[in-house]
Amino acid sequence: MSNNVDELVDFDDDEVFPQANEKAAKEAEPTTSKKADNLGHVAVHDSAFGDFLLKNELLRAIGDCGFEHPSEVQHQCIPEAILGSDLLCQAQSGMGKTAVFVLSVLHLLGKEDENHTSCLVLCHTRELAFQIQLEFNRFKKYLPWVKTKVLYGGTPVAEDRNSLKSPFHVVIGTPGRVLQLAEEKTLKLDKLKHFILDECDEMLDSDMRPDVQKIFRLTPHDKQVMMFSATLSEEVRSICKRFMKNPREIYINDRAKLTLHGLQQYYLNLTEQEKNRKLVDLLDALEFNQVVIFVKSPSRAFALSDLLNKEGFPSICTYGRMPQEERIAKYKQFKEFKARIMISTNLFGRGVDFERVNVVVNYDMPDEEVTYLHRVGRAGRFGTKGLAISFVTGEADNKILEAIRAKFVVPLPELPPQIDPATYMTT
Ligand code: AMP
Repeated sequence: MSNNVDELVDFDDDEVFPQANEKAAKEAEPTTSKKADNLGHVAVHDSAFGDFLLKNELLRAIGDCGFEHPSEVQHQCIPEAILGSDLLCQAQSGMGKTAVFVLSVLHLLGKEDENHTSCLVLCHTRELAFQIQLEFNRFKKYLPWVKTKVLYGGTPVAEDRNSLKSPFHVVIGTPGRVLQLAEEKTLKLDKLKHFILDECDEMLDSDMRPDVQKIFRLTPHDKQVMMFSATLSEEVRSICKRFMKNPREIYINDRAKLTLHGLQQYYLNLTEQEKNRKLVDLLDALEFNQVVIFVKSPSRAFALSDLLNKEGFPSICTYGRMPQEERIAKYKQFKEFKARIMISTNLFGRGVDFERVNVVVNYDMPDEEVTYLHRVGRAGRFGTKGLAISFVTGEADNKILEAIRAKFVVPLPELPPQIDPATYMTT
């Protein structure tokens, strides 16, 4: 990535945020949770959602969702977020980050927001946008006046223009389409109060950054900015903070120990030719609710899905270049448990939440350690157990394996001939 953080927002931080200097530095001492480390894989908190003094309508919806206790990230972030503070939050995958901003925004929305878009959430994939909308819709059950809308490319822009004639209070989208509609003022952001980036490192450390910045500039200066990710390097943290005023920084895991508790992780040394046989044997031998298999290219996703179907393992595949409607249909099919095996490129490597996935296979090793962490984090969501197996082929894969072990302090041994299903199946 570019080191030039000056390419960021084109105003001077000190000028716009005069207090964002010494005081900010003092107040913004990052909070690092010890508790989550000690809790093993179920980092829930013994407090109650009622302690946050959220609106009754939200507490009822939370009850309907069956959430009993806030997770550690919710416990730490929600009280800050509902005070309107800017927030930079890193917490491991699957621990309920989405509910942090969904609940906080819904709590803060009032009747005075009825005629405009108050909240914009940007994320990196269309599936994630769709999933975040589902989360808003779930929690706004008793706030029927709140309207949500997803905006992403690959669908007719005319339809978006048409539907935006009446206001949506919460808009969730990917940067390209949001920027297009915001620039032409079909999407009006001039009264925005909450600007949220999910998977913010992916958004700001990629070619999406210019679009994110342009959208940011179309919003009022005075607003709450919240950013979330499971991974946040020092470098990206400082980029994120350029968008914020005196943010609260909440890092739930000790950075050196960023790993996924409750998830068993193994590798297997294989040649390319051995991969298919091994995969089929594993699918035969393992007990899984749902499995995600990651490959490095769309053509491999397609071919592998075909092969597994022929071998009697019904599977579906998805990748970025697939037509949009089909992509969302695949996402829904898997989310609704209508398929048990999903083959994906990195598209499903981050953010998406499939609560029944308990096995992840890296058929192809990822190129980067961070991608590994996100991918395997698709198993073992919200403190459930899981199993991740990575196929290692050749020198480059071995190097990545070593880097993963070092970075995430995880032993990652060779897959033993037998594993007790009780260790990776949540009963
Ligand atoms: P996320 O990390 O936001 O993708 O959330 C992971 C999963 O945990 C989702 O299926 C959420 O619905 C679920 N979840 C989030 N918070 C809680 C909670 N406090 N209690 C139970 N489940 C939760």
